[in-house]
Amino acid sequence: MDNGEMSRDAAAWVENTIRDFIADSPRNTMEDGTDEAAWDDVLVGFASGADPIWQQYKEYIGAFHWTPWEVFNQHCPKETAAADELTVISWVLPQRKLVREANRRSRKYPAEQWARIRVYGEAFNVALRQHVVQRLGDAGHMAIPPMLVPNWAIVKSERFSYASSWSERHAAHAAGLGTFGLCDGLITQKGKALRAGSVIARISLDPTPRPYADHRAYCLFFANGTCGKCIDRCPARAITEAGHDKEKCRQHLGRSREYVAKTYQFEGYGCGLCQVGVPCEATIPVKSAREALERGELPPPPPPLA
Ligand code: SF4
Ligand code: SF4
Repeated sequence: MDNGEMSRDAAAWVENTIRDFIADSPRNTMEDGTDEAAWDDVLVGFASGADPIWQQYKEYIGAFHWTPWEVFNQHCPKETAAADELTVISWVLPQRKLVREANRRSRKYPAEQWARIRVYGEAFNVALRQHVVQRLGDAGHMAIPPMLVPNWAIVKSERFSYASSWSERHAAHAAGLGTFGLCDGLITQKGKALRAGSVIARISLDPTPRPYADHRAYCLFFANGTCGKCIDRCPARAITEAGHDKEKCRQHLGRSREYVAKTYQFEGYGCGLCQVGVPCEATIPVKSAREALERGELPPPPPPLA
C-alpha cells in the first residue's frame, strides 16, 4: 500500500469514526423526552498543520490565535510534532430540517428546538471531539481538541471587538468546508445553519482541497452585491452591510437566557435567526459556486486574506 492509499484509508476511518458516533451514541439527543436526535448528518474535511492559512489567520485575527502546531505542542509536550506531521480534522454538523423550520418561525428569540441544540447538541459536539481524540489515541495518533483545552479563551480584539484562540469555523474554512457570509456564519454545501468541531492529530491525511478562491465566495452579498436577507432577520440589528456587530449579537444572546428559562423551562440560550429563512440556510446560494462544486472544479490558488 502506498502513502496515498494509506492516507485515503485513514481518512475513511476517521470519517467513519465520526459518522458512527453520530449514528450510535445515546448522547446524540435533543433531551426533549422524544427520540429525536440532535444531528443526523456531517461534513468532514482535513487541513495540513503546515498550511500557510494558519499563519494568515494569526496575522489577520491576532497573535493570540493559535496555529495547530502551537496548540498541539503546548498540550502534548511529551510528543512534540512538526507542523507538517499534524492534520486538523474538522467537521460541520448541519442543523436538522425540523430545527431549521422551527427557528424560521421565530422573530426575536430562538425556537425551543434551536435552543436545545445550542445546549444539548453542543454537549454532543463536545463528546464527539472527546470520542475522536480517544479513538485516534487508541490507534496510536496523539490528538487534542483545541476548543476544550483549558487555556482556550475569548480575547478582546481591535479588529473584531473580540475573537478566540481557536475558531471552529475558521478551521472548517481551512479544511475546505465553506466560506464566510455577511453575518460571519460559515456557508457550506449544507448551508449556514450548523455547528462545527475539530481536533488536531499527529496523523498524515491528504488535505481536502478548498474549492474556493475567496473566503466569502458563497455569500450572495459578496459574490454579486445582492441578498442581505440576514440583515432583516436579525432582531438585534447586529448585521448591516458593514458586517456583523459581535457585541450587539452577544448582548442579544445574553437576553435570550431569560426567555429560554421562562418559556421552555431549561437553562439555555441561542438565536441563529440569521441562519434560517435566508437563501444560504441549507445550501450554497451562489449558483456558479454551487455548480462548480458539484462538478468538482477547483479555482486557482486563493489570494491572502484581506
Ligand atoms: S443571507 Fe444572504 S447576505 Fe446573508 S450570509 Fe446568506 S447569502 Fe450572504
Ligand atoms: S445570532 Fe441572532 S443576534 Fe446574532 S447576528 Fe444572528 S440574528 Fe443577530
